Amino acid sequence: MVRAAVITLFPEMFTALTGSGISKRAVEQGLFELKCVNPRDFTSDRHRTVDDRPYGGGPGMVMRLEPLVAALDHAKAWFGRRACKVIHLSPQGRRLDCHGVKSLGKELNLVLIAGRYEGVDERFITSEVDVEISIGDYVLSGGELPAMVLLDALIRQLPGALGDARSAAQDSFENGLLDHPHYTRPDIFNGQRVPEVLLSGDHKQIERWRMKQALGRTAERRSDLFHTLELTDVQKALLEEYLRERK
Ligand code: SAM
Repeated sequence: MVRAAVITLFPEMFTALTGSGISKRAVEQGLFELKCVNPRDFTSDRHRTVDDRPYGGGPGMVMRLEPLVAALDHAKAWFGRRACKVIHLSPQGRRLDCHGVKSLGKELNLVLIAGRYEGVDERFITSEVDVEISIGDYVLSGGELPAMVLLDALIRQLPGALGDARSAAQDSFENGLLDHPHYTRPDIFNGQRVPEVLLSGDHKQIERWRMKQALGRTAERRSDLFHTLELTDVQKALLEEYLRERK
């Protein structure tokens, strides 16, 4: 089981993760457990203050160290003081990709720090954080959505989380390529037919068609993915066929 403690000022946001779909089922199946720890519960003043003005002046507020340290200690106690990986969600972190998700999936205990305001006091990052992760080159108002993005991607990888284990294996990026297109009923919609081969029942031909489409799509949309891929001779031939047909 993977256990994640999220340090957040907005624990209620996480019902979006635990309350629906695959992630809800993973919780019910005992594959994944989530605990939210609110730094506000670790303040001692009347206003339960978690932020303060930045040294050096300027706009915005900074998350104070003490409530964060106390919240982290509470999260570590929840893990029974066993080893855990402390992740700070930050636009300045390493960009999340499927390799990152897979390597985090090997960790059993995760602590995710969701920042707010201008971010957290740098000394907290220096002394307590193992890795900083970004979900892309844009700035969100808080780390809660990035934390849920990371956790959802990770939960999909847990054995037993998906109804059919083959679903994850054929997802984009799994074999280095984008996924092939998908179709369901009706056969014809607005004059557009489902590709004939998918109705043929010939599974070998269907697999061949899907691989060709995956290769073609990757070439057209994300040719950068080929930089780290060694295509087989069969794949090269399929890609050439795809490109010829497109012309
Ligand atoms: N001043 C910070 C900067 O420019 O690097 C941005 C602070 S942002 C308004 C507040 C919090 O949202 C951050 O501390 C971080 O936890 C989270 N956040 C925002 N964008 C993110 C991203 N792309 N990836 C991960 N976390 C992000």
